[in-house]
Amino acid sequence: MPASAVVTLLSKPVHEIPSGSLAELRRAAGSCRACPLWKPATQTVFGAGPEKAHIVLIGEQPGDQEDRQGLPFVGPAGRLLDQALEAARLDRAALYVTNTMKHFKFEQRGKVRLHKRANAAEQAACRMWLAGELARLQPDLIVALGAMAAQTVFGATFSVTRERGRWRRLGEAAQGMATWHPSAILRAPEENRKQQYAELVTDLRGLAARAGVR
Ligand code: SF4
Repeated sequence: MPASAVVTLLSKPVHEIPSGSLAELRRAAGSCRACPLWKPATQTVFGAGPEKAHIVLIGEQPGDQEDRQGLPFVGPAGRLLDQALEAARLDRAALYVTNTMKHFKFEQRGKVRLHKRANAAEQAACRMWLAGELARLQPDLIVALGAMAAQTVFGATFSVTRERGRWRRLGEAAQGMATWHPSAILRAPEENRKQQYAELVTDLRGLAARAGVR
């Protein structure tokens, strides 16, 4: 796929998309040094899922467990995502799941590693990997989980609170939607958590309906 076609799936231009297959891209990302986040992290956390997946879920950044295991959405947020996918009758094994950022950013506080949000320069440096994944996969349906992913796909003014669950055209053939990130639900005040989870499931049911899952 030419680079110009990929740019239409992300809100900001990506000028240099790494070449090669998805497996080659994964290997290359394993030694990426394009921003400082690789140094304190354990490993690159690239996307996971079938190369022929028609649906791509994009999260924000790997967390503590993802950094240790080298896989996306395997910590508490991943478990909540699995639960929501099951409720929406979506099979995670058929989806490609990735993150906007490929390294865990954190602040060490004693023995605990506290998640820190990647800054604009780090996000810009890492965008080539997500662009590369989308270029290889050419998905029909893209779901952004949380503000960082949503703004990467739909633009800096996108608000998940206002616009979640609404599908938009992305490029020539794809469609995209944004919804709550499972970690935001886990961090939400008790009184909002149940409702946000129900909204996540509703949005994923919308995804299932578009994907023709019965
Ligand atoms: S966070 Fe992204 S850009 Fe930065 S080193 Fe890791 S893979 Fe490269």
